[in-house]
Amino acid sequence: RLPASQRPSATTAANLVAVPKRNARPSLSLVLPCRNEARNLETLLPLLLARLGKLVDHWEVVLVDDGSTDDTVEVMRRWSACPGFTAVQLSRNFGKEAALTAGLRQAHGEVVISMDADLQHPPRLLEDMLAHWRDGADVVYAVKANRADEGPVKRWGSRAFYRLLNAFERFEVPADGGDFRLMDRAVVDALLALPERNRFMKGLYAWVGFHAVPLPYLPEDRVHGHSHFRFRQLLGLSLDGLTAFTTWPLRLATVCGIIVALAALVYGGAVAVSYLLWGNPVSGWTTIVVGLAALMGIQMILLGIMGEYIGRIFEEVKGRPIYVVKDVLGHGLKAPGG
Ligand code: UDP
Ligand code: MG
Repeated sequence: RLPASQRPSATTAANLVAVPKRNARPSLSLVLPCRNEARNLETLLPLLLARLGKLVDHWEVVLVDDGSTDDTVEVMRRWSACPGFTAVQLSRNFGKEAALTAGLRQAHGEVVISMDADLQHPPRLLEDMLAHWRDGADVVYAVKANRADEGPVKRWGSRAFYRLLNAFERFEVPADGGDFRLMDRAVVDALLALPERNRFMKGLYAWVGFHAVPLPYLPEDRVHGHSHFRFRQLLGLSLDGLTAFTTWPLRLATVCGIIVALAALVYGGAVAVSYLLWGNPVSGWTTIVVGLAALMGIQMILLGIMGEYIGRIFEEVKGRPIYVVKDVLGHGLKAPGG
């Protein structure tokens, strides 16, 4: 232990790490991916409009239409006439992750917040998120404090998924962080610099690093419409995530091979010994058939795993853009009184 005179006092520590003070009122971009959210937008946008001017001086709301089939585009068109609102219309449905990427590209703010358009992410949290950012957080992610609404299957599946995802990795994807999050400009730029087409955002958020702070909240119920993520989509998303962020399933083939080969060696030895010592004839139709079937099964599974990865390589190699923009309407950042 250092003598008191040499211990860093609060003042010398403050002198050593001259933390640049963060802007009290940064420019803020809100990014909202929307698929068939016309009625929710009609409720949400007035709420945001009322709140944003009080929070910061310069703000913008970036609405991304992800191939909606209802009046979402009409609603966006109307709102994009209002200063501060920008509408990006994609040429078809590309999926939430792609829509989010499109929105992040369009955002100009020093601080960017992504949120769902279905009113499940309460706008009152914006204030707390900004407060954490001012205190030095680069990322503030909202965490559902209550998952009681999810059934046991979903909860168990999600736990298993994150176990598999985080096995043997250097960075951890937090299980409970969703897409309601604040990001510093540096984080957004890092995300947009990632070239991959498979935008498993939760993984990418974790991969870029930075100082992330969780913010617990109680999610609201969806007001209109229904969730777009049913079992099939969630399964697809999980496979995307696993293949994009792990390689250990590939190594599984090697491990399985070694185990099976060792077992075969031991079993072969045992059969030889029992024949030589006791003259047991080599019998065992059952052993052969069961062994063969089991090995075929393992091989098929491992081939399938490899196929998943090859599929992803194919997707990346084609180098197609992540989304196609049909139209951009609106203004960009709104200045006070502008
Ligand atoms: N979303 C999107 N494209 C899609 C599916 C969803 O832009 O293909 C948007 C949707 O409009 C909403 C957000 O992503 O703003 C979250 O979707 P949802 O509420 O269906 O998901 P959940 O809340 O069930 O996770
Ligand atoms: Mg929702």
